[in-house]
Amino acid sequence: MKKVSIICLSVFLLLSASSCSSKSNSDTAVTTAATKQSAVHANAKAHSTEVIDGVTYIDGILIVNKTYSLPKDYNYGLTNETLKAFNKMKKAAANDNISLEIASGFRSYEEQKVLYKEYAAEHGKKEADTFSARAGYSEHQSGLAIDVNGADFSMIGQEDMKWLKKHCAEYGFIIRFPKGKESITGYSYEPWHIRFVGKNNAKEITKQNICLEEYLGITSEYQV
Ligand SMILES: [Zn+2]
Repeated sequence: MKKVSIICLSVFLLLSASSCSSKSNSDTAVTTAATKQSAVHANAKAHSTEVIDGVTYIDGILIVNKTYSLPKDYNYGLTNETLKAFNKMKKAAANDNISLEIASGFRSYEEQKVLYKEYAAEHGKKEADTFSARAGYSEHQSGLAIDVNGADFSMIGQEDMKWLKKHCAEYGFIIRFPKGKESITGYSYEPWHIRFVGKNNAKEITKQNICLEEYLGITSEYQV
């Protein structure tokens, strides 16, 4: 079996030059605004990137977004741990009288190609890119993503979506395209689209209120 492995380290430095003074004088308003803008804690984090058979793993997490694609033949269905975690979560939700079903799990390269083509024909490429992935760039092809109970913007604010947001990290999932992170993930807010990353990662990402791109220090942008 061919196995190509490239390891590199990238260091991301987020330096903030903010002084957290709390002086109160005439220029307080201006100072406060400026402080809020730059109130990012100094953070230096090294990430490891590994490419195995055309699939990118950052810090051991498989990544697929607008920057990182999957090979055409990456075609393994929903992973066992994703399915197991979902079923466990589904049981817990049922105890709270919430019904969770898989509306869409694994999608092959070819299926995504058809889907994206339809959306692009109907809405134009630019708009389609905000809610549908091009073939090879869909997280659904990874077998780690699930659309729960549908994929419709009218679902925003529904009880099942609220339950999902509150509890999915307990089972190793994150809301992959959160509200307020659209410019980073490259996608509209989708409360129904969850991604399996394992419990520890999910809890950390949720606690920090960040998206996967921020967690791994990467972008999500098409090259063409
Ligand atoms: Zn989805």
